[in-house]
Amino acid sequence: MDYVYGPGRNHLFVPGPVNIPDQVLRAMNRNNEDYRSPAVPALTKTLLEDVKKIFKTTSGTPFLIPTTGTGAWESALTNTLSPGDRIVSFLIGQFSLLWIDQQQRLNFKVDVVESEWGQGANLDVLASKIAEDKAHTIKAICIVHNETATGVTNNLATVRKILDHYQHPALFLVDGVSSICALDFRMDEWGIDVALTGSQKALSLPTGLGIVCASPKALEATKTAKSVRVFFDWNDYLKFYKLGTYWPYTPSIQLLYGLRAALDLIFEEGLDNIIARHTRLGKATRLAVEAWGLKNCTQKEEWYSDTVTAVVIPSYIDSTEIVRQAWKRYNLSLGLGLNKVAGKVFRIGHLGNLNELQLLGCLAGVEMVLKDVGYPVKLGSGVAAASAYLQNSTPLIPSRI
Ligand SMILES: *Cc1c(COP(=O)(O)O)cnc(C)c1O
Repeated sequence: MDYVYGPGRNHLFVPGPVNIPDQVLRAMNRNNEDYRSPAVPALTKTLLEDVKKIFKTTSGTPFLIPTTGTGAWESALTNTLSPGDRIVSFLIGQFSLLWIDQQQRLNFKVDVVESEWGQGANLDVLASKIAEDKAHTIKAICIVHNETATGVTNNLATVRKILDHYQHPALFLVDGVSSICALDFRMDEWGIDVALTGSQKALSLPTGLGIVCASPKALEATKTAKSVRVFFDWNDYLKFYKLGTYWPYTPSIQLLYGLRAALDLIFEEGLDNIIARHTRLGKATRLAVEAWGLKNCTQKEEWYSDTVTAVVIPSYIDSTEIVRQAWKRYNLSLGLGLNKVAGKVFRIGHLGNLNELQLLGCLAGVEMVLKDVGYPVKLGSGVAAASAYLQNSTPLIPSRI
């Protein structure tokens, strides 16, 4: 069917790209500038200092790379590892699968630790691999913090505990694309060596910036890492950091000003308040799913994601149809089921710049679509469960009350 314009807002509830706040949109509406003038390096300096706060690191070195999450992955791998290096990586959904595919195509020797989709990374297998690896042949652990395809959050503190317990020197590389700036994330405390995200997820910016943060140990590893890297070479950035001009090649001026505005909003709300807001919106979504009589794709509570919920629907309904109808009839954008769970789940993204009533609007839309596709849902049941919880718990912006 051809595209037909629909009035009113599009309700964007895919788990990235997400809504961009008006303040950020306005900040980006500007002309290009000479990035070699003093203004852009001065701005960049504040951005590099401030992005460290969203990773909760003081010792890390950040890189703002004109790329997406996928490029950020590649920069993390090629700057720290050499072809043939043995790494451990967890396959639990589409994003971890794509990262593993990239790792294999870059010629690393990947120990793939696979779990059923809907489960978290199998850290018992990690513990036994680390225990057995007395010779330290494992060079890195790669893990997706929040698997966006299934709504599963992995426990990063446990990964660190395992490495410390066996005093294993493997690098700890983390995809935080759908977690950083939304879920509890502590780069320094958890001893993460490379953490990365993309601008279009919780930071609520347009796509186009890969934000990567490297620990001192990761920077040290670049000195011996033999992977071929050109565009993503951190050393090119470091050279320009030293000169105080910051950019080895042309940055998007608009994205830099957008990032400045986004960070200002983040610090105004407070990072911990943002995390608490995601906890509340995640819980409200799960209560609605339960009220509809549907199952969460995530199999255990300890893995529940507060940024995305994958909802399993009965086999007589194709979830692709739910996503299609939601967009056509209600101007509501939901996430498709990907790969192994295609047709079986649809996803509600509840991350980024978002509040309670926006989420309730989405839940109302989902209820109507469920009814449209023949699922016997009581209209208002999910909205009632979610709103009762939200109304009864600590307000979203305590300082406003
Ligand atoms: C979105 C996403 C990616 C991929 O990012 P792109 O910006 O599309 O390259 C990687 N990992 C996770 C967990 C994601 O959610």
